[in-house]
Amino acid sequence: MKKELARETGSKMKTKILQTIKLFDTIIIHRHVRPDPDAYGSQGGLAEILKASFPDKNIYIVGDDEPDLAYLNRMDRISDETYRGALVIVCDTANRERISDQRFHLGERLIKIDHHPNHDAYGDLQWVDEDASSVSEMIYEFYLSGKEEGLRMTDAAARLLFAGIVGDTGRFLYPSATEKTFDYAGELIHYHFDRTALFNKMYEIEPSVARLQGYIYQNLDILEHGAAIVVLKKELIEKFGVTVREASQLVTTLGDIKGLKAWCFFIEEEGQIRLRFRSKGPAINELARKYGGGGHPLAAGANAYSWETAEAVKKELIALCKEG
Ligand code: AMP
Repeated sequence: MKKELARETGSKMKTKILQTIKLFDTIIIHRHVRPDPDAYGSQGGLAEILKASFPDKNIYIVGDDEPDLAYLNRMDRISDETYRGALVIVCDTANRERISDQRFHLGERLIKIDHHPNHDAYGDLQWVDEDASSVSEMIYEFYLSGKEEGLRMTDAAARLLFAGIVGDTGRFLYPSATEKTFDYAGELIHYHFDRTALFNKMYEIEPSVARLQGYIYQNLDILEHGAAIVVLKKELIEKFGVTVREASQLVTTLGDIKGLKAWCFFIEEEGQIRLRFRSKGPAINELARKYGGGGHPLAAGANAYSWETAEAVKKELIALCKEG
């Protein structure tokens, strides 16, 4: 019943969002800092759909350019003035602090489209679907619901949305990939883009990262009850010649290890320790939230500012695994 109600609210919200889009000449689309393929995919996919559907509108995408995702898209550079009277849409970003380009509030109206728990309910309109595998999936659904109302899909949009769905489902591996996810992905591959080239780009790693991956497998600290941690201090990251982003991305590689329930990477960078959690059972997002972060039940993140805090997180992770 609750789910049905949420679905109905979702369909009303899609209609409202499209009606709102139609009212504005300028639409600026944001996403989160430290972007991943779903952030780029949902933001860029929505932009491409809107450009094709409303050629007279000015559609912009903003945020820091991420060099590792340059194969997907490039951001626009716009002045503060552009925000005057504009509609701002933020994709895939649970809380305001994590929005890349903090000028999001300069627009006239704000829309949030997201699939994380809605703890920071910002925006004049909010469409939040925690059951969606990715925001790219939601954007495809938005297109489907507005097709009769003039929304157009393009090859470029399909490529971006497909990348976002693949990225957030770990190539359709995680339980968040539902029948709907597979259906949508199946529809998206009918558009013209090079899927093999896209997969190659998404999953290729530098030799230096492969070497760090070897180190992680060798030095993984397996704790009680199926918990595990990996500590990557600054000097080690520098020694391997990888970026913090590259080191962080290796968190998913532990998923295949038998017996692991939940694990955390502690990645030291200037002035903070980045915590990256993954789980195959116990929900770890409340633990992340306790340390000022957030995320999904099986993939979350936070920041710590001392190794004592990291030690406390380790104990709590073991306790969670014991319960779960
Ligand atoms: P990541 O490990 O960066 O892929 O993040 C996994 C999930 O946790 C994503 O959905 C992020 O939005 C969320 N997340 C990661 N770091 C933070 C943070 N510092 N604060 C809030 N949410 C985060």
